[in-house]
Amino acid sequence: MSKVHVFNAGPCLLPEVVIEHAREALLDFKGTGVSLISISHRTKEWEAVMDETRALWRELLNIPEEYETVFLGGGASLQFLYVAMNYLEHKAAYLDTGVWAHKALKEAQGIGEAYAIACSADKNYSYIPKGYDVPKDLDYLHITTNNTIYGTEIKEDYDCPVPLIADMSSDILSRKVDVSKYAMIYGGAQKNAGPAGVAFAIIRKDSLGKVSRYLPTMLDYRVHIDKGSMFNTPPVFSIYVMNETLKWLKGIGGVEAIHAINERKAATLYGEIDRNSLFTGTAVKEDRSIMNICFVMAPGYEALQDEFLAFAKERGMIGIKGHRSVGGFRASVYNACTQEDVEALVAAMQEFEKIKK
Ligand SMILES: *Cc1c(COP(=O)(O)O)cnc(C)c1O
Repeated sequence: MSKVHVFNAGPCLLPEVVIEHAREALLDFKGTGVSLISISHRTKEWEAVMDETRALWRELLNIPEEYETVFLGGGASLQFLYVAMNYLEHKAAYLDTGVWAHKALKEAQGIGEAYAIACSADKNYSYIPKGYDVPKDLDYLHITTNNTIYGTEIKEDYDCPVPLIADMSSDILSRKVDVSKYAMIYGGAQKNAGPAGVAFAIIRKDSLGKVSRYLPTMLDYRVHIDKGSMFNTPPVFSIYVMNETLKWLKGIGGVEAIHAINERKAATLYGEIDRNSLFTGTAVKEDRSIMNICFVMAPGYEALQDEFLAFAKERGMIGIKGHRSVGGFRASVYNACTQEDVEALVAAMQEFEKIKK
């Protein structure tokens, strides 16, 4: 098999060492002679994995004492519902920055009063709205820090006059976050933190318990906090691989170290997009994501799109076709994607330009 460069938007690339450790554990979990997927989640060996995973989250993201992290099934999409059920009493606002943000809003509207406080659909979600007023009487403001499909990102932690809730599915662990600015942060693991099958929720404990509705047991964050994410059978395999991914991240220097690597990868690829006359970026520069890098053929060269896709594929690029709502190309350069992968893509872009110009 020749070298491939994986730019899939999710599930994401995971480090090879993580996959090797997962394979070992599938065959024999920690010398127990039992496969990871057959062990009881009520054993001390498994409890140790859960404890360590929680501790790694706390350490890597510098999560303050008053927060708890829970790991749940159902993906980020079920968190849209969890958020509304656990936090929406009178009214909530959502910053509508793309497909995922919009889906989160829609889910809340099924539960109570929720509205878009600002929206960037007018320019196909190519920017992050700014300068809107946040009313003080909201239960919460919901933001999507990284818009996976459109390649825009909120790179600062907002000072918000109401509880701030963020979907960080696709940029968690890519940069430092001031967790104390948020009432809760959630996401699916499969964009940066591990494989599909588990979602995380980082919750300030005193932000809960403020709604009057009946909460079904499985949709009540307090139950999952109380039970250490083991009210029911947790997604054992996904959590284990996430644990290995977190250990890998810690081993290379943690979030600060990966942020520097991510900044460099993004600068390399955006630099080429801006330099290369055949391509152009789609997101406004100040809001460009360092995780999902979207670009299209420059005006006049649109007809070359499929040819470039095939050209890049021959050179090992996987997963660079853009989402249908943006078109063109999207390179997802999550934590496990390397500078070498990005440079291989840049080389293909440069070669293509030489042939075509
Ligand atoms: C992928 C993604 C989701 C949906 O995640 P699922 O786990 O598939 O439900 C939600 N929000 C963002 C920002 C995403 O990138």
